[in-house]
Amino acid sequence: MSQLADRIAVVTGASRGIGRGIALELAKRGATVLVNYHASADAANAVVEQIQAGGGTALAVQADVSTEDGANALIKAAGDAYGKIDILVNNAGTTRDNVIMMMKPEDFDAVIQSNLRSAWLCSKAAARSMMRKRSGRIINITSISGLRGQAGQTNYSASKAGIVGLTKALAKEIGPRGITVNAVAPGFVLTDLTRDLPQELVDQMLPLIPLGKWATVEDVAYAVAFLASDEAAMITGEVLTVDGGMSA
Ligand code: NAP
Repeated sequence: MSQLADRIAVVTGASRGIGRGIALELAKRGATVLVNYHASADAANAVVEQIQAGGGTALAVQADVSTEDGANALIKAAGDAYGKIDILVNNAGTTRDNVIMMMKPEDFDAVIQSNLRSAWLCSKAAARSMMRKRSGRIINITSISGLRGQAGQTNYSASKAGIVGLTKALAKEIGPRGITVNAVAPGFVLTDLTRDLPQELVDQMLPLIPLGKWATVEDVAYAVAFLASDEAAMITGEVLTVDGGMSA
């Protein structure tokens, strides 16, 4: 399967979890992948090695994408190494859950910065190069928490709802330059991010999923790979949920 051959993809937060799965899937389909990470250098290098072992090309790039310098340096790394960027997946994210009465303003700001500001900064940096060549794909990872709201996640839900707005506005703004901008909204996926959720909350959610099972990292990666493919050329400003029907 080499439908993404010759494409240069940047995946933010690709050292672990969903981002790792997206990086592996895009590479499997022929893309050269920049594996961004913040702190987990060993994990990011392991993703690169796995891609190389499968005959692909990848590069680990450390950058805190919630900062302007970090986001710009990451996108510049793609240009420096490969001369262009075709696909940007804004996946990096975090949580600092609490009820609003206990949540500190720093917890609100940190989550907005990691999840929303990072996507805006990386999109801005990548759009410049994509607009010049009049093609590109930006895929933002939001969450059903951003569509429905989740108690205990006022910061996270706001950041993810913000990503939906960013996706739709940017799709309108740079669509005329041949760039599509879409979002993927996973339901619950077992990763480091969700490992510590209270078991009773997890147990309450499962019966709400019509397909009766949790989404996997691979389920999310397939949706991203589709939106990055030529077959999705006419789709922009969309939010594709990958939640087993939970939010239907
Ligand atoms: P995860 O396992 O905790 O991995 C988070 C990744 O983001 C790591 O690679 C981490 O890098 C990176 N990261 C965090 N802040 C960063 C920053 N400032 N700069 C660069 N990289 C940064 O999380 P996940 O569950 O895979 O989640 C990935 C995305 O999917 C997030 O946007 C999350 O909101 C979304 N999502 C997850 C679920 C779910 O159930 N898991 C559901 C819906 C949406 P380091 O390893 O270097 O720290």
